[in-house]
Amino acid sequence: MSGLAEPEPPARRAAIVTGASSGIGRAIAEAFGALGWGVAVGARREDALRETERLVSAAGGTPFAHPLDVTDPASVEAFVTAASCALGPVDVLVNNAGIAHPGPLHELSDEDHRRILDTNLLGPLLITKRVVGALRAARRPGDVVFVSSDVVVHPRPHMGTYTVSKAGLEALASVLAMECEGHRIRSTVVRVGPTLSAFGAGWDPQVFAELFPYWQRFGIQRHFEVMQPGDVARTVVAAVTAPSHMWVPLVEVQPQAPLT
Ligand code: NDP
Repeated sequence: MSGLAEPEPPARRAAIVTGASSGIGRAIAEAFGALGWGVAVGARREDALRETERLVSAAGGTPFAHPLDVTDPASVEAFVTAASCALGPVDVLVNNAGIAHPGPLHELSDEDHRRILDTNLLGPLLITKRVVGALRAARRPGDVVFVSSDVVVHPRPHMGTYTVSKAGLEALASVLAMECEGHRIRSTVVRVGPTLSAFGAGWDPQVFAELFPYWQRFGIQRHFEVMQPGDVARTVVAAVTAPSHMWVPLVEVQPQAPLT
């Protein structure tokens, strides 16, 4: 006997994944489906959510798709209420929705700055408030995951507001962890490195061509390997299914460098 507690098998839980219409969010939703969980998937593009719904179902989960704009408090309220009605009390929230616009601080429009902060920081704050409020009122345990970025430790010029938003998100996760200490609600930051997704898909290819050498000047872009969304999903699953006597406050995942 090692004296260590056996890991608990993950019980069936109800989860919310924001930004689940593509990329990392879709992969997280599918991975939760494979655990047999109820998974509420939210994003603005309803047609793309239908595909995620299909993947969750095919993986063995119970999907619930509903439009969500995290920047709109009324949409957040409607989404969480609908998800709880469809799947039961929400145990797990993954704050994954995120956007970025490349460019120097002085060139981005005021609207771009506002949209990045609203989507990546204020939105997660509002939905976390709603979900954690319900957990606390019902004295239920839960998990809140914040999908962050390595820009927090390696700030990227020309992605300034994005960097600030993710730094704020990690601060939010720390505050939540302290406020929920002793209430069995775990707050986890999953800090992600380069991952192949639709992120930046709308950017002008010329912007990428200029950004990479620019970042290399600051020692940021060390190679061009990327992870797959499923790699990040696996990390999220490991954190939220950790035995209840432990807690993963922060995990960073990066693509392995190519062989030299
Ligand atoms: P994608 O662009 O593929 O996914 C972003 C998701 O966010 C989409 O589903 C989009 O759906 C959703 N979204 C955007 N705005 C809103 C909104 N207002 N309300 C609700 N949903 C919204 O990119 P990724 O999968 O790569 O990004 C997921 C997360 O991972 C982001 O937080 C990103 O910052 C983070 N990340 C990504 C990295 C990468 O290299 N890919 C590296 C580090 C972190 P819709 O448009 O339908 O609303």
